[in-house]
Amino acid sequence: MIHKHGADVIQRKNCSRTENVGLSKSHSEADLPSKQAPKPKLKRSESTVQLKALPSYMVDNEFLLDYHRPELNSIMECIKSVFMMHTETWNIWTHFIGCLGVVCLAVHYFIHESESWHQSLSFAVFFAGAAFCMGCSTIYHVLFCHSERYCRFWAKMDYCGIVILIIASLPPWVHFAFYCTTYLKPLYIGVPVVFGIGALAVVLSDKYSGGDYRVLRAVVFISLGMTGLAPAIHYIATHDFFHWNFYFWLILACLFYFTGGVIYATRIPERFLPGKFDIWLQSHQILHLCVIGGVLTCYQGASKLAQYRISSLEECPGPGL
Ligand SMILES: [Zn+2]
Repeated sequence: MIHKHGADVIQRKNCSRTENVGLSKSHSEADLPSKQAPKPKLKRSESTVQLKALPSYMVDNEFLLDYHRPELNSIMECIKSVFMMHTETWNIWTHFIGCLGVVCLAVHYFIHESESWHQSLSFAVFFAGAAFCMGCSTIYHVLFCHSERYCRFWAKMDYCGIVILIIASLPPWVHFAFYCTTYLKPLYIGVPVVFGIGALAVVLSDKYSGGDYRVLRAVVFISLGMTGLAPAIHYIATHDFFHWNFYFWLILACLFYFTGGVIYATRIPERFLPGKFDIWLQSHQILHLCVIGGVLTCYQGASKLAQYRISSLEECPGPGL
């Protein structure tokens, strides 16, 4: 079904250069100018179309020139397309595998590492935020070619996931960095939550959810992430050099997120060689890998800090909750 529909779209584009619309099944393959069709450079699903054949709502990156899925109008067809090669294949798989990895890591942590309910709770927020972010991202990349309604809804969920990941990364760090200091925790978690609500208002608005506001969204995400700098600076200023061991991982996580945000906004490398990164190594895939790197390094630092706190009871006998 997807094959024939895609062929229909290519035919329609080549004949009339009008926007892709649904065609009836009576439009037979005998009518297709198969001899004149350009030979594909890569082995890929023949259901893909060129950028100019896409409806405007699906045009997210004008530097990816070919191998796009057409509008499919079927959840089953969208799911089948996960196993074909097109512009979204690696966007789907990177975050699907990342989401499964976070779930496995969470199970391992709760069974083998966590020693108390408050440790489990703070890390559960982090794991849930990371899994939600990558889960929403996976669904968005699978379904955005279903229809304009699905595309707009899941794009907003994708942006929500990023905001929630940023906020959810803070509790384990803040809880164990200020283990005995009760009053600082609501402050250092509450302020980013307030900023996060503002960020949600921006990314959920119809006005700012389109491709034209890519840079604005990147600035919102990076700014939100910087609200975590206040507790980091406070902690570094009040502890000795040994504790840099933990913040090395936090700085590395920030670098991953910042690099991913800049690459997403600037669309490097496809900007310099349009059409050469349609399937492999486009900016969005690099963003996804940076998110996975950020989640793993954030986890590594927070779990080391938690271990240190729990094993140093002479410094602080119990948590200030
Ligand atoms: Zn994505």
